[in-house]
Amino acid sequence: MHGRMMLEPLLISSLLRHAERHAGETEIVSKRVEGDLHRSNWREVARRSRQAAQAFARLGCVPGDRVGTLAWNGHRHLEIYYGTSGSGLVCHTINPRLFPEQVAWIVNDAADRVLCFDTTFLPLVEKIAPMLTTVQYFVVMTSRAHMPAVSSLPGLLCFDDLLAPEDGGYAWPTFDENTASSLCYTSGTTGHPKGALYSHRSTVLHAYAAALPDAMACASRDVVLPVVPMFHVNAWGLPYAAALVGCKLVMPGPHLDGKSLYELFEAEQVTFSAGVPTVWLGLLNHVNAHGLKFSSFKRTVIGGSACPPAMMASLQQDYGVEVIHAWGMTELSPLGTLSKLTTRQQSLPPEQQQRLLEKQGRVIYGVDMAVIDDDGRSLPCDGRSAGNLVVRGHWVIGRYFGQDDSPLVSVDGEPGWFPTGDVATIDADGFMQITDRSKDVIKSGGEWISSIELENIAMAHPGVQEAAVIAAHHPKWDERPLLVVVKKPGAAVTRDELLAFYEGRIAKWQIPDDVVFVAELPHTATGKLHKLRLREQLRSDT
Ligand code: ADP
Repeated sequence: MHGRMMLEPLLISSLLRHAERHAGETEIVSKRVEGDLHRSNWREVARRSRQAAQAFARLGCVPGDRVGTLAWNGHRHLEIYYGTSGSGLVCHTINPRLFPEQVAWIVNDAADRVLCFDTTFLPLVEKIAPMLTTVQYFVVMTSRAHMPAVSSLPGLLCFDDLLAPEDGGYAWPTFDENTASSLCYTSGTTGHPKGALYSHRSTVLHAYAAALPDAMACASRDVVLPVVPMFHVNAWGLPYAAALVGCKLVMPGPHLDGKSLYELFEAEQVTFSAGVPTVWLGLLNHVNAHGLKFSSFKRTVIGGSACPPAMMASLQQDYGVEVIHAWGMTELSPLGTLSKLTTRQQSLPPEQQQRLLEKQGRVIYGVDMAVIDDDGRSLPCDGRSAGNLVVRGHWVIGRYFGQDDSPLVSVDGEPGWFPTGDVATIDADGFMQITDRSKDVIKSGGEWISSIELENIAMAHPGVQEAAVIAAHHPKWDERPLLVVVKKPGAAVTRDELLAFYEGRIAKWQIPDDVVFVAELPHTATGKLHKLRLREQLRSDT
């Protein structure tokens, strides 16, 4: 017997319709590429999204077609998000920080029919255009007044002009909730990028879960500033969760330096933000250097790579900003776990609470996880047994875009789990802790050493700006940890001082063998330490 409830497919357009009808006046503020601060609201964004849907149809796009974007966080990008997915097209966000050849490869692999981009990316698009095999239209996301005067690309379209003749009198179509909605490629640090093709259903369920109190806890009274770019796993779902709760969104555009961010946080009274650790380094340096405080900023999600405990402590203790450490990945839309304490844990001594908060946290409903050994057997949840982390759930990929092979593995003989490539422990309370990516773990004399743990200790030293630990080949132990450090400006820290700093903080055999000082560390296009490149650099230097 079926239940007798209405069957409404979980469509992305329903999020926007909700925000338009019930939070229409709530603001969407964008610091634009053009330099101005643009003010809009959900009603206006909804109208322009419908116009965008009409305009893409006028260009000949049909459901399933991919529309690529190379753009910062801003209202036009949001309008393309909703205008494409809402009308059955696929919004394909592309990371402009990748190498141009990689961007071209991704556009071709996705077979994008339209490519929309901010004026800042015109040189990139001009460079890759001769390599593109599927793009028919190039759309500059700006107004007529800011269109480039000259370009090697013929027939450039202007986004605002494209919308102008449309009346916005468009009814969002109803279709199967499993229809593809957006496409995002992994950054490909270990080979060709792979596409994660999300569906309307997975996106709406992820938005629900993201907004839960034990997750990002988004509420209508929040002012949300996603520092995480909209080209990085849909800004961790915030553009959708914000519509779901109908809150104010503040979009920073390309202005991601500490000073610009601080000024925007204050001017718009931002309460909540999210981003990778590197962006908080810039913001913290700025507020530290100028003795500033935040007047409205209350909490932030930090993820994408391990949040150094020293950064967490500074944000919490010096600035009163709650840090929610989160783990996820492109293949997970991206949210998997967040560090929120249970009632019992809140009565533990403060140091124990802190140690728990530094872990990557508990899963939210919708995702399940386990740690397994190399033979696919599950390991105990004892907080000590480290194994390969596998996940499954409503917003976890089952296959990569365009690939027939299943990446899934079995756990204790049960098929259907996605191997994350991370190594982790899970404790009895369900708190997961990433100890490494499987390719970064240091295997010393048959034992595993966590590079993240060693990096976190180094980052707690007052003279250290950034630290990376990689495996150095060793004739006896196979691999030994090597610490690579960027000093804080003006700091005079030495090798011996840093190695001594590890004593008493970690088992003696895990202390790095040596320290190398460098001017800067290589990062991936998503702001993570690029350990593969670092290993290559150090090899070619020696
Ligand atoms: P890519 O896999 O292409 O680098 P993702 O952004 O999908 O791009 O990266 C996901 C990976 O980032 C995870 O598998 C994990 O290794 C790492 N990661 C994400 N969040 C955290 C975190 N809080 N702590 C440690 N590692 C993290």
